[in-house]
Amino acid sequence: MNPLDVFFPPRCVFCGARGVRGTCASCAARLPRQPKQRREGTFGVCAVPLRYEGRAREAILRFKFRGGRGAAEGFGALLAQAAAEELGGTFEVVTWAPVSRRRERERGYDQSFLLARAACRLWDTAPARLLVKRRHTPPQSGLSAAERRANVLGAYEACAPERLQNARVLLVDDIVTSGATLTECVRVLRDAGAASVVCACLASASTEKRGNAG
Ligand SMILES: [Zn+2]
Repeated sequence: MNPLDVFFPPRCVFCGARGVRGTCASCAARLPRQPKQRREGTFGVCAVPLRYEGRAREAILRFKFRGGRGAAEGFGALLAQAAAEELGGTFEVVTWAPVSRRRERERGYDQSFLLARAACRLWDTAPARLLVKRRHTPPQSGLSAAERRANVLGAYEACAPERLQNARVLLVDDIVTSGATLTECVRVLRDAGAASVVCACLASASTEKRGNAG
């Protein structure tokens, strides 16, 4: 028995069906998949399996805001698969876009760390903390693209420069909307010495819909 099962009995992360680890067959057939598991922007390239809508949006909101941390394993598997297919061979260190300490205390966990850790388990590695969010920022939801950029500018700092030198980094986050958070984190990692940074997010939201992340 997986030790995690004691705390999180296996359930489909989308519909809650019991006895399913990850995604049940019914949800797998109906998930709002990205047509291409890939977005490009000022952050470079981002592997992303899902569109932030329908049952994917509901499940991610539970994961992020309603204590549904047991879903991390199933979500991490989706993210890992998209990252392997789109970005395979282009990274050697995995990190994540962290929440501030204050947010982590309020929520009890950092959802992007949990995603990164779940993906890394499948790759027999562990994520490395390379960034800290030194400034607590208001949530990105409800902000315009320009406001999102201003909101995160200078909010992150590299914290392990020795691990970053010439490293090819995979940066994990939960949702990509305008790309402002990814762009800022990629900039900080590259300024601190990373050779390259590619990204992977669980879901992609359009800015018009005013998603729940950067
Ligand atoms: Zn399901």
